[in-house]
Amino acid sequence: MNTKPEEIVSILREEIQGYDARVRRDETGTVLEVGDGIATVYGLDKAVYGELVELDTGVKGMVMNLARDSVGVVLLGSDAGVKEGTMVKRTGRAADVPVGDGLVGRVVDVLGQPIDGLGPIKATETRPIEHEASGVVSREPVNVPLQTGILAIDAMVPIGRGQRELIIGDRQTGKTAIAVDAILNQKGQDVICIYVAIGQKASTVARVQDTLKKHGAMDYSIIVSSTASESAPLQYIAPYSGAAMGEYFMSKGKDVLIVYDDLSKHAVAYRTLSLLLKRSPGREAYPGDVFYLHSRLLERACRLTKEYGGGSMTALPIIETQAGDVSAYIPTNVISITDGQIYLENDLFFAGQRPAVNVGLSVSRVGGSAQTRAIKKTAGTLRIDLARFRELEVFTQFASDLDSATQQALDHGRRLLELLKQPLYHPMPVSRQAIILYAATNGLLDDVPLDKIRSFTLDFAQEMENEHADVVEEIQSTGNLSGPAIETIRSVLEDAKKRVSATWQA
Ligand code: ATP
Ligand code: MG
Repeated sequence: MNTKPEEIVSILREEIQGYDARVRRDETGTVLEVGDGIATVYGLDKAVYGELVELDTGVKGMVMNLARDSVGVVLLGSDAGVKEGTMVKRTGRAADVPVGDGLVGRVVDVLGQPIDGLGPIKATETRPIEHEASGVVSREPVNVPLQTGILAIDAMVPIGRGQRELIIGDRQTGKTAIAVDAILNQKGQDVICIYVAIGQKASTVARVQDTLKKHGAMDYSIIVSSTASESAPLQYIAPYSGAAMGEYFMSKGKDVLIVYDDLSKHAVAYRTLSLLLKRSPGREAYPGDVFYLHSRLLERACRLTKEYGGGSMTALPIIETQAGDVSAYIPTNVISITDGQIYLENDLFFAGQRPAVNVGLSVSRVGGSAQTRAIKKTAGTLRIDLARFRELEVFTQFASDLDSATQQALDHGRRLLELLKQPLYHPMPVSRQAIILYAATNGLLDDVPLDKIRSFTLDFAQEMENEHADVVEEIQSTGNLSGPAIETIRSVLEDAKKRVSATWQA
């Protein structure tokens, strides 16, 4: 109130004199050249890496290259209508996607826009697609299991919530099938599932959507789709968009399972983009920072402590190998980033051993401490028995008379392998896994003929579930095999064997 009018006038005068009448050059720029979804833009002097920009045609772009007198912008949409001279505006914010409960049950593109024809998505929040991973202080060890429902995996390569487990194998070896089975098995487990399709065929994405819907799994799932026909920049940001959506749920204390199908195609999209941005090519023409491409993505999966919300994000990245070569550039990168791998093998797949998990090469480095006790106890010798079997099998291939111990080890191994076969979309609850594993690893099924073992064991498990629901329920809820439960399993099994063994001889 003490300010004199002269003072106000002088302040105003100063402001007016200092006003820069020119259009601010650093906020808008013009396109110099455009092609393959990449625009070189002149004039965005103050633009920062990863910033969202808007073109006159309405399409958005992301700043990916900062050169001395131009910036490289990847277009997040069609480049139709973009030409030399098109105006580009800075937005001052990082590229982001809508997040929230509204996305659950939906199929969206990499920018979070619906593509399932079910109307607009109600999202109140957005999150940047690129986000720093949680720090060490906010993390907790992985010790809660994430059941995939696949016997071979839950028994031998257990996965914990917050873990990153790679699914690796040649084309058409059932990689996607394992991920989809794992999603189906999360029904009623209070886990939000996100399937990120990167450079997949539209038909594959449709098939996954169809399967999830048919099994009631869309109710807790999101599909983020970038198909092979989309531009490299869109394929490149797809997994980061999916991770941003997952992080929202994780920050709210929920458990998330995210599948990146697949990161080989992601690396190829990034290579395309980098070459178009004129970055120098390195080994196999990938740019030098291709390791960072996947490490910063997979680091975002973790389990948070209670103080930070207590949520988790489990990542199942998928990598496609060429002729089983796990030592190629991108596979070794991702193997070294993840906490283990499920290695699927062509030969096993064609020999009918499906899921085609190679037990020797598959590992889980942290999941052991998260494994359900009943499974851990019963599956203890499984890996060793199978390794022994494989060795003996090669060794005795041409031998005619074998001593009884060898013969027995071979018979036992064959039965174990037979029991690890599992049809598509039939995830197994923990109780059933524990019962089957107990019977199998203790050799209680070694006298069942090989061609009968699957049907016999499934009938026996079914009988347990029908006649001894209380025991099964106890195993399922406590995750433990008690003495009385074991008694019941043994006696039911003996009775079942007595009942049907007469038909075996025939
Ligand atoms: P791509 O390399 O094309 O992505 P992929 O490795 O993801 O292939 P899938 O598409 O999952 O493989 O499976 C390939 C085929 O194998 C499918 O037709 C699927 O039905 C079949 N398949 C996968 N797993 C099993 C299984 N456990 N039992 C029977 N068939 C299976
Ligand atoms: Mg696949």
